Amino acid sequence: MSASLKGKSVIVTGGSKGIGKGIAKVFAGHGAKVMIVARNLKDAEAAAQALGKEGATVSAFAGDITKLSDMEAMAKTAAERHGGLDVLCANAGIFPQAKIEEMSPETWDEVVNTNLKGTFLSIKACVPYLKKSGQGRIVITSSITGPITGYPGWTHYGATKAGQLGFMRTACIELAKYGITVNAVMPGNIMTEGLQGLGEEYLKTMAASIPLKRLGAVEDIGNAAAFFASKEAAYVTGQTIIVDGGQILPESLEALASA
Ligand code: NAP
Repeated sequence: MSASLKGKSVIVTGGSKGIGKGIAKVFAGHGAKVMIVARNLKDAEAAAQALGKEGATVSAFAGDITKLSDMEAMAKTAAERHGGLDVLCANAGIFPQAKIEEMSPETWDEVVNTNLKGTFLSIKACVPYLKKSGQGRIVITSSITGPITGYPGWTHYGATKAGQLGFMRTACIELAKYGITVNAVMPGNIMTEGLQGLGEEYLKTMAASIPLKRLGAVEDIGNAAAFFASKEAAYVTGQTIIVDGGQILPESLEALASA
């Protein structure tokens, strides 16, 4: 991987847990200066402390991606701490399950406000600083759920994850004149703290449906995000990469079993 991330100023929303923590770990490992953002400051500080152990520059910031004022304070703080801002990983998201017949309009709004509007607000707040970088990078965490696949209970979630890609395809055109690229990682099933609680049997069944026979690691997503943020990806914008161990490919259970 490129040495081009060394010293870069990076924000990771939702960096206190799961995939965001994996993204923060990979960028810190490349020598970037990383600011982790989450609503719960204690969790963000704990993650920053754990990742900063090996001499990496990782700090925490409490912010809610659904609030523009929080996002503006986030961008300003990162620029002050790191002497500018080069990369925004717009990763924070929620996925409460509710089927259409039981879903309240409030639940729909909460998911859309967080995943879709929160992506817009975090990007809007960072653009003034990314412009100054001259080679700003925005990496969105979307999903296979919505753009490619479906899962009962996730109509709202899938709509937001597909919506992020629609947003990206115009955002990348608008921001290209500033040298800012906008790309998205589409994870499959990734092993996070949240999933670990579902039990060994459940995880085994999930892994069995994936051609590479394992759930993804959070670092698998971090590595894809780091590619989009690297110098080598300077001419890549408005694109997606699916990181799912081949999960979306088998056209039937038989296709998997006969391999
Ligand atoms: P997670 O483990 O539940 O972590 C979510 C992170 O987002 C936490 O740091 C949380 O911290 C933060 N967050 C949530 N709402 C926020 C808000 N309003 N403002 C600021 N921070 C907020 O989730 P994850 O599984 O890593 O998922 C991260 C992203 O990956 C999401 O966009 C999700 O859609 C996507 N994804 C996940 C998977 C998977 O298998 N896990 C697959 C495909 C896509 P606080 O609660 O303290 O705010």
